[in-house]
Amino acid sequence: MGEGDRSRSTDGTRERQRVLLLCAGIIVLFAATDRITLGYFAWRPLVVRLLWALFIVATALNLRGAGRARTRELMLALAVFSTAFYAALAALTGGIASPLFHWMLALPVAIAVVIQDHPAAIVGSGLAMLAGGLGILTAAGTSPALCWQWAGTAAIMVMLAAYISGSYGRLHAREAALRRAGAEADTRARASEAAIAARDEFLAIAAHELRTPLTSLLLQIDAVERAVSLTPGGVLGDVERQRIGSIARQASRLSGLIDGMLDMSRLTAGRLELNFDRVDLAALAREVAQRFAPDAAAARCAVKIDLPEPLVGLWDEARLDQIATNLIANAVKYGAGGGIEIEGRGTADVVQLIVRDHGIGISAEDQQRIFRRFERASGQRQHPGLGLGLWITSELCKALGGKISVTSAVGAGAAFTITLPRRSPTALESQRPRMPDIEPSRA
Ligand code: ADP
Repeated sequence: MGEGDRSRSTDGTRERQRVLLLCAGIIVLFAATDRITLGYFAWRPLVVRLLWALFIVATALNLRGAGRARTRELMLALAVFSTAFYAALAALTGGIASPLFHWMLALPVAIAVVIQDHPAAIVGSGLAMLAGGLGILTAAGTSPALCWQWAGTAAIMVMLAAYISGSYGRLHAREAALRRAGAEADTRARASEAAIAARDEFLAIAAHELRTPLTSLLLQIDAVERAVSLTPGGVLGDVERQRIGSIARQASRLSGLIDGMLDMSRLTAGRLELNFDRVDLAALAREVAQRFAPDAAAARCAVKIDLPEPLVGLWDEARLDQIATNLIANAVKYGAGGGIEIEGRGTADVVQLIVRDHGIGISAEDQQRIFRRFERASGQRQHPGLGLGLWITSELCKALGGKISVTSAVGAGAAFTITLPRRSPTALESQRPRMPDIEPSRA
């Protein structure tokens, strides 16, 4: 049994014990009514009341530490014996003339209220009530027809009380099933969160470990490329040069993928650090476009730049470079053979950078997904990629206080727009002068 179950059942037992002790007290207190009913004091009804109250107290004490099955047995015995005590009391206080006799029919309902969710206890008490009631009626010489009538009424009361009790039971069972389902869902959610955390940690470690040898590999390739180009007369033929060029391109692609994985783990862990400074987005976009000129030429993309004014704001330059790089790289990759336009505009508060291509385009359905992690538009096998670039771009835009959007249609190219406030709240926060930490004074 879990800790929660145990404390719940202990609470239930305490509650039940309290109700039973209250019932025992009421039974003894109402001894005075017997004298009023009879018109004189008699010992026997008082003894019955005391025995009944004792029996209830003993049952309440026995409940402590009793399991579910034992508790149900005790409740059944309590219901049956309480009815028998009640019938005896009715018999001793005037039999059929006693007011207790008329209230006897309400006994199963009273028991259903005190002992909830236990139809067997109601039926047991009902049988005891039938026996006791018919005994009193017979002793009073009541006609068989009246006896039958009373028995019929009593049976209906018992069935009603048993139905109420059964409904309680079904309700409790449903509540318990809901609680169990909720607990299972929590456990599953915790397990999948742990699995995701383990996956992210693995990716972060793998990306970090791959980065070190790759950096040295890139440096070696760079050195080889320079040595080859500086060698007078050219020791290597064109084929070898092309091969070295291809190795360099593949290595830098690998480096880009690993950087993406590292960024993903930083963003997921909330470890992204931003260094805000004055940056001209127009100049930065021009520079990135310049960097992509050879790739754009290779993809037969004519790049048109429309950045008429400086677009200055308080941003993290490296992250802004990454945003522009991702968008222009995608335009070259997915817009091969068409033109690319890079536009910028600004107001007093915000600036916008638009990267438009005239390539394969994105369906409305895919536009909903591509900003999520590892999501790619359908049918993109011919273009390699992890589906991380736009997610990282969108997260970086958010970190800079801005957003990214896309307008596109299949076959009609795509236009990605980033909108950034010139001074995001985060930038202002990071620029606020810090109060020096005050050491707590030691008394
Ligand atoms: P990757 O390019 O590595 O797959 P991204 O996150 O950069 O990852 O892009 C997600 C997906 O969005 C791409 O796989 C592609 O299907 C779609 N996409 C992005 N940019 C464009 C574009 N300019 N034109 C058409 N599809 C694009």
